[in-house]
Amino acid sequence: MTPTDKLMEYFTKFPGIGPRQAKRFVYFILRKDKRFVEELASLIVNAKESTMQCSFCYRLFSSQLNTQSGICSSCQDLNTDKEVLMIVEKDVDLENIIKMGVFNGFFFVLGGSVPILDKNPSSKIRAKELFTRVQDGAKNGLKEVILALSVNPEGENTIMYLSKILEPLAEKYSLKISTLGRGLSTGTELEYSDSDTLESALKNRG
Ligand SMILES: [Zn+2]
Repeated sequence: MTPTDKLMEYFTKFPGIGPRQAKRFVYFILRKDKRFVEELASLIVNAKESTMQCSFCYRLFSSQLNTQSGICSSCQDLNTDKEVLMIVEKDVDLENIIKMGVFNGFFFVLGGSVPILDKNPSSKIRAKELFTRVQDGAKNGLKEVILALSVNPEGENTIMYLSKILEPLAEKYSLKISTLGRGLSTGTELEYSDSDTLESALKNRG
């Protein structure tokens, strides 16, 4: 396999990128001058090296912005409402919600969703970590867990799976498990919703 083929193969591993787009990326890079390519390569390495995963919410954050090691700024923020925990699929969802300023509780990044009829759901998401996080939270004032997943069959399936996992905790600690309300129409990816829609979906949760 030539380096060009190998590069193409790497691009097809990117989310939403098929062989055709991968090929376009490769040719784009090959047409650029050497300086551009070297800068791109070192940027990728630098970005990776200066990023940490929060040990509390599992989001990625720049370690340069960090004062207390291992925990991101919103998990460190004393004004964060510890009574609510919002579960999102991925980092971009979390970034989006923070940017909109419609939610003031804690977050947890699942790291994926559970495909329908999946035989090993716990390997697709941070199921065990979520259980521990909710359990610890419940002992420290957590009252509600909001499952903020995409409105599509896979999102629904993930909600069902998570509800089952969290049920014993919900009973033991009288936790409310809620999902986002109707404001979000079918097929909506949380990543693409605007702040009005999200705010009403949050208000109408149940
Ligand atoms: Zn965090």
